[in-house]
Amino acid sequence: MGESTALLADNSRGSDAQHIEHFDVLIVGAGLSGIGAAYHLQKESPDKSYAILEGRNAMGGTWDLFRYPGVRSDSDMYTLGYRFRPWRDAKAIADGPSILKYIRETASENGIDRKIRYNHRVKLASWSSVDAVWTVEVAAPEGRTLRLSCNFLYMCSGYYDYSEGYMPGWPGMGRFAGKIVHPQKWPEDLDYKDKRVIVIGSGATSVTLVPAMAKTARHVVMLQRSPTYILALPSQDFIANLLRGKIPARIAYTLVRWKNVLIGMYLFNRSRQKPEKMKKWIVGLAQKALGPEYDVAKHFTPRYNPWDQRLCLIPDADLFRSIREEKASVVTDEIETFTEKGLLLRSGQELEADIIVTATGLKVQLMGGMEISVDGKQVNLSHTMAYKGMMYSDIPNLASSFGYTNASWTLKSDLTAEYVCRLLRHMDAHGYNTCTPRKRDTSIAEESAIDFSSGYIQRAKDVLPKQGSQRPWRLHQNYALDLLEFRFASVEDGTIEFGRVPKRSSP
Ligand SMILES: Cc1cc2nc3c(=O)[nH]c(=O)nc-3n(C[C@H](O)[C@H](O)[C@H](O)COP(=O)(O)OP(=O)(O)OC[C@H]3O[C@@H](n4cnc5c(N)ncnc54)[C@H](O)[C@@H]3O)c2cc1C
Repeated sequence: MGESTALLADNSRGSDAQHIEHFDVLIVGAGLSGIGAAYHLQKESPDKSYAILEGRNAMGGTWDLFRYPGVRSDSDMYTLGYRFRPWRDAKAIADGPSILKYIRETASENGIDRKIRYNHRVKLASWSSVDAVWTVEVAAPEGRTLRLSCNFLYMCSGYYDYSEGYMPGWPGMGRFAGKIVHPQKWPEDLDYKDKRVIVIGSGATSVTLVPAMAKTARHVVMLQRSPTYILALPSQDFIANLLRGKIPARIAYTLVRWKNVLIGMYLFNRSRQKPEKMKKWIVGLAQKALGPEYDVAKHFTPRYNPWDQRLCLIPDADLFRSIREEKASVVTDEIETFTEKGLLLRSGQELEADIIVTATGLKVQLMGGMEISVDGKQVNLSHTMAYKGMMYSDIPNLASSFGYTNASWTLKSDLTAEYVCRLLRHMDAHGYNTCTPRKRDTSIAEESAIDFSSGYIQRAKDVLPKQGSQRPWRLHQNYALDLLEFRFASVEDGTIEFGRVPKRSSP
């Protein structure tokens, strides 16, 4: 097939975008998923032409964007790393720069970096059933608008809005004389040495930031409305380090990866089956780490059950250590108003600060904010049902990479990439050029895509697609089950409708 260099004039939509360059596959996003998707595509379908369109001027996505102190993974790198490329560092819970390096090295080792077009933000994608082609409109450098086309559109654009994080907005924010910072836009030169810091929030970002800033700040307060389950884990994987150098790296990596997958699945399933026992165990560990006098009931005992929201992991109990050393403290209360000096809380307590960090989360955004239309009709993703959590009812030739909520993202994005390649090979083998999931079975009930009570998921209810009550519309959130289904179940499952659209000759 090869990369088409043909440039065709096309003004059919009356836009100033003029040129169409055609690819078999267009990947949107050069983050962990996009680089992984390109690796699989090159390896398993080497005859396919492809390009990666990346809206920013760098690869790495999340791991390039977030620059706050201590930024790190909150799941282990043996499962957050790609299946095809062993994670070799000693640290299993890795810092952001190491993850970024791993992504960049994967791209350069495999020549994927040459396929990335930076500063190419996809704004629109329109599918034409007559041509069996997607046309995408891209905001390119120097204010240009480009048109590209492809047979298959592969969205690896993550799940949140890159332009800004979620900010609830409190009364009096303008009065505060110090600095207000959001972790998504961390000022490079922010000096917090010997400063009083308040971090608002109790999620993964807060529990990372608090001990990292507490190393040099005068004191850091983690202000939370309600507690989160926090579990301390060693930052190094004992078994992985034991095996290092003794058996081939690939075998060691596979073994440790499966060990961690199974431990994760066990903890999740046990949380769902015996929530009270899990609760007691996690809270008990926190009490042990913080000492018998510490009010764990108030600050570390959530109102929900374990894994009703993502569990927060802390490497080597760093947060608990900062609290014990009195470099950090936790306040569980609500903000009444910002004041000139800090915050006034509902209880009447006042907290003074030089810097307030609003670790209040992300704004969920799917498909990179791109507008999608199928045969001129605009698609509302929340009206679709997700097929295997990666394609959408009635949207042809499009897949997206969306990781697990209860395990590492890459486990699912790797499987998705493998499945996309299977699908493309199957289509080639049978002369198909369209594939569209169709929900014909009326007995399949609609359910929320993600049954998490976390704020960012609740806020996104109206934009997320639905899942179905039965396979293949049901999300397993289980790597072992997905692996069987993605790798071995027949591609012709009666749900995907395949088609052969004759090629039209160019005008
Ligand atoms: C601080 C933080 C820590 C995390 N830690 C973990 C963890 O430990 N374990 C875990 O499993 N998950 C974690 N996650 C989730 C994390 O986002 C995923 O693990 C993973 O990095 C997602 O990779 P991705 O490539 O799918 O998306 P992203 O990393 O979000 O990359 C998407 C890319 O697509 C580009 N893009 C988006 N829209 C467009 C468009 N319209 N046109 C062109 N380009 C576009 C973006 O610029 C970006 O480069 C974390 C998330 C955050 C924010």
